[in-house]
Amino acid sequence: MNLHTHTTYCDGSEDPVEYIHEAIELGWKHIGFSAHAPLPFQSEWAMKESQIGQYVREIKTLEKHFKATIEPIIGWEIDYLHGKGLYSLKYNEISNAEYLICSIHYLPILMSDGKVIEYIEIDGTVDEFHRIYNYYNQNLKEILDLYLSNFEQMLNISISPIRIIGHIDKIVINAENYPEFHSLKSNFYQSLFDILKKQNIDSFILEINTRGLYKRNRHNPYPAFEFIHLIKDANFKIMINSDAHHPCELNQGYDFVMDYLKQNEIALNWSSIKD
Ligand SMILES: [Zn+2]
Ligand SMILES: [Zn+2]
Repeated sequence: MNLHTHTTYCDGSEDPVEYIHEAIELGWKHIGFSAHAPLPFQSEWAMKESQIGQYVREIKTLEKHFKATIEPIIGWEIDYLHGKGLYSLKYNEISNAEYLICSIHYLPILMSDGKVIEYIEIDGTVDEFHRIYNYYNQNLKEILDLYLSNFEQMLNISISPIRIIGHIDKIVINAENYPEFHSLKSNFYQSLFDILKKQNIDSFILEINTRGLYKRNRHNPYPAFEFIHLIKDANFKIMINSDAHHPCELNQGYDFVMDYLKQNEIALNWSSIKD
């Protein structure tokens, strides 16, 4: 099972049907599509607004075609943007989807009156992140606190589709390049946990996202094992996704994560939208 995939409708490299063929090979009964929803500004990886209808039609056609073998599910990965909330909920096709992966890819550069000057990717290049770092007076704690407050605000927006929290700690890939991160890390993870604990346990599913393992040679998925260990007894609903941008990535990193979970007696207690 995988509900986090990107095709040629956004920044993935193959058409949806190729992912379906691969998922059938893997013996899966469902495969979810989670195109990056349109953004209110230019982006290299988000879908264009004009493609929304075509995307939905194509997945629906595939649903009919593959009905006997596998069920393709239409979802989206949507961005929380400071000051704009879950912007793409304004599209009916998105606010009525079966599930939404809610992610933070951007933090704002803010003026003193709180106005957003610019959004910068937190999981982009080192140089890009360094711009945020410099803007916030080289105060990494301030940046992490801004992330945490954005994260909490994102969760406080109610949505009707199933809510999956996308790569909850991806900011770490850049934050960890700064030596001070190591003294901030445990507080950061504890704060993420505290925010989740305040939520209704049935209102979200936390994904374990394997992309960093196979794409960036990291030793941890998103979230890091340290965080997975922290939430071990919290009874959150947990699932695994690979954030595949190519069909061959559909189950990459799964064995590694499953081994860890097994050794630590942590169950993937939510595996399918259709179960
Ligand atoms: Zn993402
Ligand atoms: Zn993604």
